[in-house]
Amino acid sequence: MTKRFKGIAASDGVAIGKVYLFEKTEIILNEENIHESDVEKELNSLNRAIKEYSNELKNRETTTDAEDEVRNAHIELVSDPSLIEMASDKIKNSLQNAELALHTTIQEMASVFEMLDDEYLRERAADYRDIGENIMYKLKGIAPKTLSSLDDDYIIVAEELTPTDTSTMDKDHVLGLVMELGGKTSHSSIIAQTLGIPAVVGMKDIRSNLKNDDFIILDALEGVVIVNPDEKTIADYEAKFASIKANKELAEKYKFEKPVTLDGRSVEVVSNIGGIEDLKLALEDGAEGVGLFRTEFLYMEGNDFPTEEYQFSVYKEAAELLEGKPLIIRTLDIGGDKGLDYFEFPKEENPFLGWRALRIGFDRKDILRTQLRAILRASAFGDVKILLPMIISVQEIQTVQEYIEEFKSELRDEGHDFNENIEVGIMIETPASVFVAEDLIQNCDFFSIGTNDLTQYILAVDRGNEKISHLYDYFNPAVLRAIKQVIDASHKYGKWTGMCGSMASDVQATYLLLGMGLDEFSSVSSKVGLIKSVINNAKLSEAEKFAEKVLSLSQIDDIRVLLKEKDDELHS
Ligand code: PEP
Ligand code: MG
Repeated sequence: MTKRFKGIAASDGVAIGKVYLFEKTEIILNEENIHESDVEKELNSLNRAIKEYSNELKNRETTTDAEDEVRNAHIELVSDPSLIEMASDKIKNSLQNAELALHTTIQEMASVFEMLDDEYLRERAADYRDIGENIMYKLKGIAPKTLSSLDDDYIIVAEELTPTDTSTMDKDHVLGLVMELGGKTSHSSIIAQTLGIPAVVGMKDIRSNLKNDDFIILDALEGVVIVNPDEKTIADYEAKFASIKANKELAEKYKFEKPVTLDGRSVEVVSNIGGIEDLKLALEDGAEGVGLFRTEFLYMEGNDFPTEEYQFSVYKEAAELLEGKPLIIRTLDIGGDKGLDYFEFPKEENPFLGWRALRIGFDRKDILRTQLRAILRASAFGDVKILLPMIISVQEIQTVQEYIEEFKSELRDEGHDFNENIEVGIMIETPASVFVAEDLIQNCDFFSIGTNDLTQYILAVDRGNEKISHLYDYFNPAVLRAIKQVIDASHKYGKWTGMCGSMASDVQATYLLLGMGLDEFSSVSSKVGLIKSVINNAKLSEAEKFAEKVLSLSQIDDIRVLLKEKDDELHS
């Protein structure tokens, strides 16, 4: 009987194949205490085990940056003097044997990370446990089970795979990974992403429902595993598989092309980022700039508001990496669903309609000042632009513009360089900003449509509420007509409109948006090549006719039929 299991998608892709249940070598801990006369012997064993493992790490061959990064991080953890000091102390002063001392030290170190709020840092606990486990094998003289040599192609199913397991696995024979534990930002997930191996994590109890060689489908786009799929499901997935493969090839082919339609209309294809690492990936994926730098992450990673110097260093590094390509930095957009550990938010009935984004900035000018000064200073190092979130009135833009002039004057007095003519754009993500778009564009330089919020506010459908998620749809004619109105308003005044909401990453929407006159697509970086492939194979004159037809329809279902037909035609 077919069964479906749901987990968290950790690395994109689809795999069909046989199960390999990976059970780790069990470690039985010797918890006996030692005599004082054995202290020296235990210390020597511990040091030898650490050294052996450290040498093994140094000699391990790696094939990707991510594996190399993990290996180097583990070499650093193993050589951390506090690891040896803490464990030696337990041997000398608590008379623990080397195994027990290592075990308790690793537990203590990992638990410090496990308590952190930041998901990425929390995942680092797994790295500590991983090195602890490997040193333990050396102490016990056990050669652990690995995935380094598989006799056939398999989908690996495990409780959890350590970064060591994923780094050393036989990549030619691993079709996909399924784990009961683990997170999206664990080193194992990151390695799977860079290797392009589909992976799903957090799939509780999957092992007890499987045996070796069971036939399964791993859909790591949806985070689903289908056990014993029927013929029809297999056929559907085979088609999906072929289309993913074809899309990958298309993206590779087009990623470094200039996005120009067959009849000569140039647009920009740029990327959304949350930090420098994202930017590096975006550049590798062919993005020609950054259409949205979500600066919230800079504020979430520390214990206090980031300083002007710190923000400046990050924005400057981004501007320099971009070598003159545009870098659109959005001012802080917290509130709504995004909080900060060190900043108290009032309890609100409707946080999405509450004290968020610039509304906080207007009450706390000091926060806005630090950020705007940092952005202005970075503007001396590239094509930096400012983007303002959640705007609802001309008044708000004018207030920020006044602040910007004030901060420019401070920087001038202090002798800092900056771009005197820095452009300021606004997010279009409220219905108000759609209705008064013509007024707004006369007070700023460009628009960037945030379809994530715009859709929820236009349709009055909470973007995070599962129960009504079927209503949350940017292909709703109300949203489409709002988008068209905004693009037209900007063009009427000789300005441009980009889009940085998720709709810009939806390749089914690309042709339509092109026809509606969108000037800039800011997508997740993995979609850059595909979006360019649609643009470079389109004729603007035909896309415009298509958009006109779509905009005349009043039913979402009819719109979807047209979009699907067009998608099939473009990818046939
Ligand atoms: C949006 O609302 O579409 C957007 C890009 O902003 P965020 O998703 O960060 O709210
Ligand atoms: Mg938004």
